[in-house]
Amino acid sequence: MNPVEVDLVLERYEPVIGLEVHAQLKTASKIFCACATTYGAPPNTQVCPVCLGYPGVLPVLNAGAVELAVTAALALGCTVHETSLFARKHYFYPDLPKGYQISQFDRPLATGGSITIVLDDDTEKPIGITRVHLEEDAGKSTHTESGTLVDFNRCGTPLIEIVSEPDLRSPREAYLYLRAVKQTLEYLDVSDCNMEEGSLRCDANVSLRPAGRPEFGTKTEVKNVNSFRFVEDALVFEIERQATLLEAGEQVVHETRLWDSARSEARPMRSKEESHDYRYFPEPDLEPLAVDSTMSERVWSNLPEMPRARAARLVTEHGLPAYDADVLTATRSLADYYEAVVELFKEPKEVSNWVMGEVLRLANERGQAVRLEPSPQPIAPADLAQLLESKQKGRISGSAAKEVLEIMVEHGGGNPLAIIEKHGLEQISDATALETEIDAVIDGHPDEVEAYRGGKEGLLGFFVGQVMRRTKGQANPELVNQILRRKLS
Ligand code: ADP
Ligand code: MG
Ligand code: ZN
Repeated sequence: MNPVEVDLVLERYEPVIGLEVHAQLKTASKIFCACATTYGAPPNTQVCPVCLGYPGVLPVLNAGAVELAVTAALALGCTVHETSLFARKHYFYPDLPKGYQISQFDRPLATGGSITIVLDDDTEKPIGITRVHLEEDAGKSTHTESGTLVDFNRCGTPLIEIVSEPDLRSPREAYLYLRAVKQTLEYLDVSDCNMEEGSLRCDANVSLRPAGRPEFGTKTEVKNVNSFRFVEDALVFEIERQATLLEAGEQVVHETRLWDSARSEARPMRSKEESHDYRYFPEPDLEPLAVDSTMSERVWSNLPEMPRARAARLVTEHGLPAYDADVLTATRSLADYYEAVVELFKEPKEVSNWVMGEVLRLANERGQAVRLEPSPQPIAPADLAQLLESKQKGRISGSAAKEVLEIMVEHGGGNPLAIIEKHGLEQISDATALETEIDAVIDGHPDEVEAYRGGKEGLLGFFVGQVMRRTKGQANPELVNQILRRKLS
């Protein structure tokens, strides 16, 4: 279908979308054993009898994983249940040595939350969160020409699964939802959310229904979508495919499909398994998971300020435009950085301009994030504050300040005052010195002076340029302007 046909079809059918997001929790060790969870270790070096599923071993729950899961659940507005249960979910796959995954089923950790997304027209839309539960990750299969290789390092890495209500109505909304969930988990520091490394993964469920009808159509589930853009692409693909079927009077088959990003298509993988196919039963080797109100309250009171609240505060307390506040709070580390600079140089809008402008630009060029921790970093907040203060006092010009930042980034840091001195970037703001230069320019251009006095005031720029040339660009332009006007009038 071409885009016009898609638009026509979308007038007749409304997409209904729900996402299941899996996020690896940032614990040092696995959820039921003491093996490390370090990404990128040589295959099958972070394994033990527990996560390899040897007979007779017993899982021991990692309290750190529970804490992170509770943190995420509370921040997503869920009710965390005092008692939840682990269950065995059975399926047979080479990367699942136990033959079952320990997950949660009918008594999940938390239910009934929501997250607000901001649509492109600035309206807000709450998206329901059905449940957040804890489970373990499986291993990783790599299919090669000579056969399938299995790495069990990932087996038993703690995961939370975040299931949304079918509240999303377009691929764009799905994208905005994912972005909001990722931002939330990053703020909470519960997950790396690195989609390339697989620490954040998404399955997308989608169905179509005739516009205006309340009941949902048959959905398909697209698995293995490992970037935000692919989620949008996969949903567009499925919507078109389902629409074509419905237009032809055919039925959508309830099935699981696999997204192939190389070919941009979602291929059928298996007919949808129902929950009874998994033969869920309560995990007999783990006690019910107890999260008492004391723990929930403690975690709740330690939640960091979340992005939307933080952006609102930057608008009301710092007087920033909403746009700046949104950009600066995109990640917690960027917001921390901005606030650390403002703490030392109390001109919020000026700091915002420099952080959103030069600092982000230089960091992006180097593929780095702007952050406070871990230090050291090329442009430390204290150094940026000192630089902006020098600029405010007229010691250096705006373009010299940019030069200082470039030098700092090139050399992995440095004291701005020392750099200004070493590179002779100081601005000439001494009126007497400037007058000497200005007099020389005036004396050297009698015709232009006459023309100016005769009404050609546009020539002021010419005189400023001449002074700049004589001072190798180091004259304070504001002061030059002032003195020139006085002398020429
Ligand atoms: P399943 O049992 O097939 O896995 P669930 O009820 O667990 O289905 O829902 C899985 C995800 O699919 C949820 O995010 C939910 O919002 C979404 N979903 C459920 N029904 C539909 C539907 N008809 N169309 C689109 N998404 C749906
Ligand atoms: Mg499901
Ligand atoms: Zn282990």
